[in-house]
Amino acid sequence: MPRYDVIVVGARCAGSPLAMLLAKRGAKVLLVDRATFPSDIPHGHFIHRQGPRLLKEWGLLDRIAAATPAVRNWLADFGDFPLVARDLVEDGVAWGYAPRRTILDKVLIDAAAGCGVEVREGFGVGEYVFEDGKCVGIRGGVKGGATVEEHATITVGADGRHSRLARVVEAPIYQASPAILCYYFSYWSGVESEDFELYVRPQQRRVIFSFRTEQNLFAVFSGMPVEELPAIRTDIDAAFMRSLDTVPDLADRVRAGRREERYYGASDLPNFYRKPFGPGWALVGDAGYHKDPYLALGISDAFHHAALLSSAIADGLDGRRALDEALADYEQQRNDTPAIDYEENLAAARFTPFPPRVMAVRAAIRNDPQESTRFVKARMGMIDPAEFFNPEHLQQLLGGVPV
Ligand SMILES: Cc1cc2nc3c(=O)[nH]c(=O)nc-3n(C[C@H](O)[C@H](O)[C@H](O)COP(=O)(O)OP(=O)(O)OC[C@H]3O[C@@H](n4cnc5c(N)ncnc54)[C@H](O)[C@@H]3O)c2cc1C
Repeated sequence: MPRYDVIVVGARCAGSPLAMLLAKRGAKVLLVDRATFPSDIPHGHFIHRQGPRLLKEWGLLDRIAAATPAVRNWLADFGDFPLVARDLVEDGVAWGYAPRRTILDKVLIDAAAGCGVEVREGFGVGEYVFEDGKCVGIRGGVKGGATVEEHATITVGADGRHSRLARVVEAPIYQASPAILCYYFSYWSGVESEDFELYVRPQQRRVIFSFRTEQNLFAVFSGMPVEELPAIRTDIDAAFMRSLDTVPDLADRVRAGRREERYYGASDLPNFYRKPFGPGWALVGDAGYHKDPYLALGISDAFHHAALLSSAIADGLDGRRALDEALADYEQQRNDTPAIDYEENLAAARFTPFPPRVMAVRAAIRNDPQESTRFVKARMGMIDPAEFFNPEHLQQLLGGVPV
């Protein structure tokens, strides 16, 4: 008998919630990561959509909210005008939170350990172990220590977009599209701003988003075409500030503040789904589904998919359903839920013009704070989208023009 029911490789926003939820369902889980915690990674950290609600459901939102301000106000400028929505709070949960990864991932891994998961930090997995074509465990260890082998009924790669497990099992890739944008970001103090600001500049092929985070810092990101990377790298600060200059008001406010950290960047950002299961293995988070960070959905998707996979594995281990059947359902559900987001994200990263109807609705609600708030709440799934996006309401907003 294997020593563990499940081994999870990777302990950030996909792996730790998966391990925690499996332990809550009674599974014996080993969670390993070559990193130690708290630690940062050069990724963004804005959590919205279903992310805050899941953190609340898991009893972790208070710890996040204690470390970072809730993001209640939203500004989005698609090159037309800045549309502002305020008071984005529903049932005590704000639209967004932006904890640094040092806080978020530590809260998540501690929650897993608190539920009885055996956690090994600083533990790198060098190899996966197979018997008769089935993955039966891992081989690895801590730096300078002996190599150990551990066995489990199922081994999960929550090991990020370059997943070694996905490579070893040759997980098929589908709906793939190469990287479109690269991103640079840093943190400023002393910047006057809304909680969250988004600027799309299709002509210059730039997207800029920024949000408040811990210690009253203002995080500013710029997405730029990946083919410009060699030129950007020759002088990152100049390229970044040129990008900000496409929004003169924002550039002025950022220049009035002070950059407190170096620039961080990421460029290898392909878009793909991977088949997320096979004999003795499964994938979750970026390992199984990766996309350009334009819509900032990676963390909330990782949470959601961890919840789906934990149910599938727990049902399979309990004998409620055949594990293979449960995992096939996991793949289906994982693919169904973000299908629209995936296409929309690709279109946005390619700077495809927004549909005229979207622009017309924005213009119609421009001077109406209540409608602006309802629009964003509906768009972000904080209220039933049909409360705003129903034909009668849209016709009323657009002055009787049929929609
Ligand atoms: C520039 C940028 C900006 C982004 N902005 C946002 C944003 O604002 N909001 C948002 O929701 N998402 C954002 N994302 C996406 C988000 O960061 C990812 O979707 C998310 O981190 C995926 O989590 P994960 O747990 O799947 O993988 P990761 O966070 O990559 O974690 C993988 C873990 O696996 C461990 N690991 C890997 N291999 C091994 C091994 N062999 N042995 C042991 N451990 C191993 C690593 O050490 C790591 O800790 C952004 C991404 C980028 C690049």
